[in-house]
Amino acid sequence: MTSPTHEPSTVESNDDDLTTTGPAETTEESGPTFADLGIDARVLAALETIGYEKPSPIQEATIPLLLAGRDVVGLAQTGTGKTAAFAVPALSRLAELADLNGPSASTKVLVLAPTRELALQVAEAFSSYAVNLEDFTVLPVYGGSSYGPQLSGLRRGAQVVVGTPGRVIDHLKRGSLTFDDLQYVVLDEADEMLRMGFAEDVETILSQTPTEKQVALFSATMPPAIRKIAQQYLRDPEEVTVKGKTTTAKNIRQRFLQVMGPHKLEAMTRLLEVEEHDGIIVFVRTKAATEEVAEKLRARGHAAAAINGDIPQQLREKTVDQLREGKIDILVATDVAARGLDVERISLVVNYDIPHDTESYVHRIGRTGRAGRDGDAVLFMTPREKYLLRAIERTTRQPVEQMPMPTVEDVNATRRQAFAQGITDAIEGEDLSFFRGLVEDYVAEHDVDPAEIAAALAVISQDGRPFLAEELPELPKRKDRERRRQDGDGERGGRGRAPRSEEGKATYWMAVGHKNRAAPGAIVGALTNEGGLNGSDIGAIEIRPSFTLIGLPDDLSRDDLQRLREIKINGQRLDIRLDRGPNSGGAGRPRGGGYGDRPPRAGRGPKGKQSFHRNDGGDRRKSRPKKNY
Ligand code: ADP
Ligand code: MG
Repeated sequence: MTSPTHEPSTVESNDDDLTTTGPAETTEESGPTFADLGIDARVLAALETIGYEKPSPIQEATIPLLLAGRDVVGLAQTGTGKTAAFAVPALSRLAELADLNGPSASTKVLVLAPTRELALQVAEAFSSYAVNLEDFTVLPVYGGSSYGPQLSGLRRGAQVVVGTPGRVIDHLKRGSLTFDDLQYVVLDEADEMLRMGFAEDVETILSQTPTEKQVALFSATMPPAIRKIAQQYLRDPEEVTVKGKTTTAKNIRQRFLQVMGPHKLEAMTRLLEVEEHDGIIVFVRTKAATEEVAEKLRARGHAAAAINGDIPQQLREKTVDQLREGKIDILVATDVAARGLDVERISLVVNYDIPHDTESYVHRIGRTGRAGRDGDAVLFMTPREKYLLRAIERTTRQPVEQMPMPTVEDVNATRRQAFAQGITDAIEGEDLSFFRGLVEDYVAEHDVDPAEIAAALAVISQDGRPFLAEELPELPKRKDRERRRQDGDGERGGRGRAPRSEEGKATYWMAVGHKNRAAPGAIVGALTNEGGLNGSDIGAIEIRPSFTLIGLPDDLSRDDLQRLREIKINGQRLDIRLDRGPNSGGAGRPRGGGYGDRPPRAGRGPKGKQSFHRNDGGDRRKSRPKKNY
């Protein structure tokens, strides 16, 4: 219990402080990579696919300990990556165990989490790290939902069960959950769990687990009650505390902009139009995103370049020099690539993807406001990331003010202003005599109003580009989406697939709709719990009165489809099939124009459609990922 407090070196040594004004700091990466930590190759590959560049400090410290079989107490703030810190070693060991003993569906890992929401999140994370494991199942169990799917899930067997304490106890009592084969127990968000009054339940559960097991306890804080549990139920645990650097400089103005993922690029473009900035750093979460966002910004006329950990150091330095010299204005970077970057002219930091911990946030925004200058930091936040923002505000003890999405009117007002300013600058700063002579000659010859000539010259200078922005894509408000959903059926024009097509996904048709009271949560739940799909397999869902269109992987096998077809929601078989559009008239689907719930109205645009994305922050229930490979 009194093991030394462990502070991974990356936290302190390689971090720079925010007030540094000296010469360029190192951009060298340091600290171990995931590959250095001894993780199973299949899990490692999944992390690579997800795009995590390097372990966070808590991961770096606890993963090796947990892989070595130690009990661990991990203390780190919200958003520091604690889930992977316990899930990655758990999966590594499960994978290796399966190699040794062959597949087995008994429950070997139990994670206790305080709320349904957190249990789902943890289960989702497990699924994403386990994509390359065969015969792997994670099952979330929580109160407030029916027992049926959870019972059948448990009957089929799940190596990992993630549950809220109350519901886990219920299943233990019913005998649907057994700990005969249990090897690893995680108490996640332990402080929260105790705050919610689960202390007794947690102890009841722990007392029923086998003596020979490994226990990990993760928490943001360490109140005495948790220390007591650790003392009683953990065996000689190693205590790891990651203290983040959590002060932000006062000369940096911090704002956040709430935006859905697909609208981030538009938000970025508008921001660049309405505000004047010098050098800009845009932070994204993955290496692939650096290239993608830089490319899109270039396509919109900005001088942008990407830097990430895959780009050789020399090239990265060259790119940073270009930013310094003003040859490029925007650098799109990952945390690792921009570590310690010190470029005075950076006046804006955009957190295009929200950072995964407060420390990264502090580090990121510290790239601006250098050398005593003022800086701006803007954070793009999707609605479901609000908790991360709150964590940032809590730990930096500074509010981040909300900024509205710049409107088309804002953009155009800026353009008018810039137009006027350009004229003023030229009148004040340039020698106009030569051109003035030409214009006077023209007036004398053609007898036209000089304003007419000025307008003609403006047209020439625009060179065919539209002056005013007008075709900015509509940014639907959440309220509108909800209203559309409530309206019931919002038909649409006869063309096009309903849920916007996503990569690797196709649109499928299902025989349940509003009249079967098929809610998005029920559909997602059925497909994941009973259909064996992964949460991430499910794309856009569009529920209509008598049927539903849903985005699912375009490579579902015949067996998958067969299984999904038989699932019932409120007694109605899904009868799922590949959607072939409104006029296909396939068996079981309505014939005639449109999708048949209502005759299509001419000229009805996509406005009437009621589709939404699962991850758009609506208040729907999240997926319950479960896999059966
Ligand atoms: P915590 O439990 O500490 O509050 P989470 O485990 O929920 O934090 O992680 C917060 C976010 O950070 C998640 O979106 C997760 O995918 C992301 N994340 C975790 N580890 C890494 C990493 N090594 N690199 C990048 N992102 C990460
Ligand atoms: Mg957590």
